[in-house]
Amino acid sequence: MPSTKLPVTEITNKTIFDEAQLEKGRLLFTKSCNFLLSATNMNQVPETEIVEIAFAGRSNVGKSTLINALTGRKTLARTSNTPGRTRQVNFFDLDGRLMLVDLPGYGYARAPKTEIAEWTVLIEDYLRGRAQLRRVCLLVDARHGPKETDRQAMALLDQSAVPYQIILTKCDKLKNEKLQDRIKGILNESSKHTAAHPHVLVTSSRKGNGISELQAHLAALAVLD
Ligand code: GDP
Repeated sequence: MPSTKLPVTEITNKTIFDEAQLEKGRLLFTKSCNFLLSATNMNQVPETEIVEIAFAGRSNVGKSTLINALTGRKTLARTSNTPGRTRQVNFFDLDGRLMLVDLPGYGYARAPKTEIAEWTVLIEDYLRGRAQLRRVCLLVDARHGPKETDRQAMALLDQSAVPYQIILTKCDKLKNEKLQDRIKGILNESSKHTAAHPHVLVTSSRKGNGISELQAHLAALAVLD
């Protein structure tokens, strides 16, 4: 990682994408994105062939806020101050070109055990049985780094052979040096996971960091004509 005085977010994100890729991402996300449906079991998931990108992470990681920042829609995904409230898999259709899939947040200690079991099964079934799923964005809170439940999610993704991109959220909460250490730690850890992408995206939905890079990353997977 270059040792310049630039903010770490600039260094890590900007080196990955060129202007043409960023433009492609920007254009895709100007299209309308609409809520399609919520599923509580695999019988309810939509029968489409649209390429899917799923968002996963511990509850309160900032997943809804990130989806809203990506799509420019303030209330598309429901943010909540009550962690673990969203139990369904929510599907958002981005102009028929990409399906954004909001998976239920995991790791909420106060959730009833039966509920945890139910939604673990749902996530596992979804990850294992969805041919059109091209990428999982695995969100990790920059302040805390990966926790045990994140490691379990990584192991599940490795087993399911679903490629995933680790995305640090809330990077505005960390000083440059701490963030740099966090990124190094995650890169080191993710290199041991077969399905993990070899770079980390650093985001702040609050400040807007990394959003256009994530758009570019996802646009590269979408069917554009
Ligand atoms: P979810 O449970 O993963 O969907 O998390 P939410 O999107 O509801 O966010 C949880 C909390 O984190 C809320 O209070 C958000 O305002 C806050 N949050 C989300 N993104 C950011 C961010 O980029 N920076 C900061 N500082 N806080 C954030």
